[in-house]
Amino acid sequence: MLILISDAFDSSLPDKLSKYGEITDDKSRLAEAEVVLIRSKTKVNAEYIDSAPNLKLVIRGGVGLDNVDLDYAKRKGIIVRNTPEASSIAVAELAFTLMSAVTNHIPKAHNSMAEGKWLKKELKRTELYGKTLGILGIGRIGTELAKRAVAFGMKVIAYDPFVKSNEYAELKPTLKEVLNTSDYVSMHMPLTDDTEGMINAETLKEFKDGAFLINTGRGKTIVEEDVADALKSGKLAGFGNDVWYSDPPKDTPLRNAPNMVMTPHLGASTKENLLRIGEIVERIISEFVNK
Ligand code: NAD
Repeated sequence: MLILISDAFDSSLPDKLSKYGEITDDKSRLAEAEVVLIRSKTKVNAEYIDSAPNLKLVIRGGVGLDNVDLDYAKRKGIIVRNTPEASSIAVAELAFTLMSAVTNHIPKAHNSMAEGKWLKKELKRTELYGKTLGILGIGRIGTELAKRAVAFGMKVIAYDPFVKSNEYAELKPTLKEVLNTSDYVSMHMPLTDDTEGMINAETLKEFKDGAFLINTGRGKTIVEEDVADALKSGKLAGFGNDVWYSDPPKDTPLRNAPNMVMTPHLGASTKENLLRIGEIVERIISEFVNK
């Protein structure tokens, strides 16, 4: 059995999987592969699947399956698995880090010091304590973030039409209610027809003036142009963003927008998470081989 590791996984994984078959990262051998391991980079669309006549199992290390054509895979009898439980802490910690970095002007403070400037009077920080965090999509990652925000003395509210209650957040029935009252809005939804472009010129009007936005969910759930305009006008005081229209983004108005804190899709990229993903991948392959 040939296992193709198509994207970045923990460097110890090939050794651990070698007992199940031959391991390669040579993408030109896709046609021979029975199992393909992907993260978000490889796009398993119809064309990809048609080039892989031996493919039986696709394992997505991570949560989002928007880079896999699930219907086409099913029609071709290909099993698709992900590792949703592995990444929650890693992504929640990044969302919290972005929220803290953006409200404390960490990039600007650092860069100005590196340039020999002293902006002590200019840089005014804002405390998280006592502020309201609005979480859009309170699943695994949203809940881990809510837990951390409560520990910092924040009030946590959430909008999620598929969730009735949550231990750490007060559920609100509409998106508008969350946007109207949140000092920080953090996005943790999958990319679907409903969530695509959810934060746009119209919904941005519902934000409190000077609110902060954080997105570690999916890039296309915001309209970048509209968010860049809101940053320029001051409607948004800052935006911490980890997710983009493409990895890397080709041309984004956010690159030069004020008060941005940007990370290159690092949400899942902790050492600990890559190890956890590797353990789950091994378990899935073991079950596949022994079934
Ligand atoms: P999850 O399924 O546990 O939670 C997602 C939540 O979003 C669910 O509770 C769902 O009900 C809710 N939701 C769906 N549609 C909604 C809508 N229209 N409005 C409001 N809420 C809606 O998933 P998770 O493990 O918490 O992951 C969330 C997302 O985070 C993933 O789908 C993925 O896109 C993203 N993610 C990003 C990274 C990263 O590296 N930045 C890593 C992992 C996951």
